[in-house]
Amino acid sequence: MRAAAVIKTIVDVILPPVCALCGNDVRRDRLCRGCEALLESMAIQPPFCRVCGIPFVSGSSTPHTCALCCIGTPPFIAARSAFVYDACALDAIHAFKYNGRVALARALGAFAAQASPCLCDGRPNVVMPVPLHKARLKERGFNQSLLIAREISRLQKTPLDYANLRRIRPTDQQVRLSAKERPKNVKGAFALERPDMVRGKAVLLVDDVYTTGATIRECAAALNRAGAKVFAVTLARAVKL
Ligand SMILES: [Zn+2]
Ligand SMILES: [Zn+2]
Repeated sequence: MRAAAVIKTIVDVILPPVCALCGNDVRRDRLCRGCEALLESMAIQPPFCRVCGIPFVSGSSTPHTCALCCIGTPPFIAARSAFVYDACALDAIHAFKYNGRVALARALGAFAAQASPCLCDGRPNVVMPVPLHKARLKERGFNQSLLIAREISRLQKTPLDYANLRRIRPTDQQVRLSAKERPKNVKGAFALERPDMVRGKAVLLVDDVYTTGATIRECAAALNRAGAKVFAVTLARAVKL
């Protein structure tokens, strides 16, 4: 047995592996079966908008474009989310983001990787998280979107770039603002350090929650200006059911 395996066995005996969400004992998985099933029950199912990914609660099951995306084409090609932002999915994301349960990144990242939009010509060239401003990063201690992006990058074997896209000024937390105030709050807040690095590339942008889409749109617009094709994935999507 290799030294690393011996150490892991000793650690598992002293600190038995537990579900990253509820704390129940688990064997191999990072989530217990119960928590996994609960999260799976929150997965976004078709039909949804083929551009922004918002699920349609009624009407035709044929893939189509939602009214908002018809009125104004978003600066991304497609956005998708793993869960509806409600119930246990909301609890899991809050535990991960606000209570520092970073061990959830692996399980949640796997769901996000699975939900990632399909590119007709293969994988994206690079995975990029929505950046935090350095002041917010200092306060929280980690960027939740980077932890998810890292997991997607590992699972999809796609390079991760967390340094190029920067938040160049502090912004208010979107969660505290109305839908009308959000685009203004993030307007001009993102820039690329090396725009040449993304020219002609397919970028998978990663964030935790898509509410009005203002943050994703602003990041995507910056990437578009640099000549990138943008796809986006978030853990959850706020949907009024
Ligand atoms: Zn559990
Ligand atoms: Zn749409």
